[in-house]
Amino acid sequence: MGGIETERELSVYESMAARFDVAARKLHLDEGLTRYLRCPNREIIVHIPVEMDDGSVEVFDGYRVQHSIARGPCKGGVRYSPNVTLDEIRGLAAEMTWKCAIVNIPFGGAKGGVACDPEKLSRGELERITRRYTAEILDYIGPERDVPAPDMNTDEQIMAWMMDTYSMHVRHTVTASVTGKPIDLGGSRGRREATGRGCMICCDQALKRFGKPVESTRVIVQGFGNVGSQAARLMHRAGYKITGVSDIHGGVFNARGLDIPSLLDHVSESKSVTDFPGGEPVDGAEFLELDCDVLIPAATESVIHSRNASRIKARILVEGANSPTTPPADDILFDRGVFVIPDILANAGGVTVSYFEWVQDRQGYYWSESDVNEKLRTIQVAAFNDVVRYGEKHAVNNRIAGYMLAIDRVAFALKLRGIYA
Ligand code: GLU
Repeated sequence: MGGIETERELSVYESMAARFDVAARKLHLDEGLTRYLRCPNREIIVHIPVEMDDGSVEVFDGYRVQHSIARGPCKGGVRYSPNVTLDEIRGLAAEMTWKCAIVNIPFGGAKGGVACDPEKLSRGELERITRRYTAEILDYIGPERDVPAPDMNTDEQIMAWMMDTYSMHVRHTVTASVTGKPIDLGGSRGRREATGRGCMICCDQALKRFGKPVESTRVIVQGFGNVGSQAARLMHRAGYKITGVSDIHGGVFNARGLDIPSLLDHVSESKSVTDFPGGEPVDGAEFLELDCDVLIPAATESVIHSRNASRIKARILVEGANSPTTPPADDILFDRGVFVIPDILANAGGVTVSYFEWVQDRQGYYWSESDVNEKLRTIQVAAFNDVVRYGEKHAVNNRIAGYMLAIDRVAFALKLRGIYA
């Protein structure tokens, strides 16, 4: 992976489970509930036959893991990547349960994925993979069951195909079956920017705690997909100095701050941040270790690990991606006093506005962008304060505080419901 180095010290599920175990012990969670919540409710594996453009037939492995329905229907993205595995999807599904509980929205967690390389697929092939994947999991999804959304390498168009496939099977249009759709098909205003906006809101709150002004805050963003590019765009507009940005091909750096609108134009033409004339090139391996105040890993898993955590210069880490830090790296960052805003809090803006989209679709009544942004801010600030206060009260870091708060809320719902037999 040219610009992005990862190290799997633990698998994504193992990382989730290690944190879950620490939090469950600290909560004195009963052993049965610990067993119940540590594993998913349901794991679906499908093998998707697809006719390729050249007439040959390929078979792709697809997954949907539903971790919990304790607090409501399952919710979570679908990713397309050659590295997708059942273990990864299982870990990310549980993370969605914790994320929805932290922002206190009435959903459980799920995640899906198809092992494929979207860069090598034509639009027609992508559409056929999406439709057949949706058809294979159709009995298990829907507005009251499990609501998919975009994730790594999936977008509004893919959500439109999923919504259409679902609707054709049930013989009427069900906009609330999927979120992250185009606005003209029942998507929500503000959904595209929501994850990046949530990262910025969390960062604003952290700066407030440290009494640091936005204008003198230097930010490095790893990853320039939906989350990274929107975070960079919104934070640049708010006055932050975005000094470095990278993508899978490499990075660019400018100590005086990058001109993000010009960089966005450059990326829409050349498809990469590399060769941007307004900055110097930086090697992927050193990128995360550049001098800065805030680091936003918004690319992929396990990029901050035991071998590079001690060289991270940032004082604030805003986890735009899911699971970018391994548990051994957590301890190093904590010892060094880095203020970590964990993924299940930092990137929860996306699923929060997905919830707004689902509510709007079910009402058939659509909100203005400023309404959406205002409601997102209220939820994100409350969640930030809840996690940080919980951590202070129980003398644990923000990561474990987030897990404890979330597990406590989910366990409470499970206790009220009891176990169906
Ligand atoms: N894929 C996003 C996440 O990991 C959004 C999920 C959603 O909107 O359901 O949080």
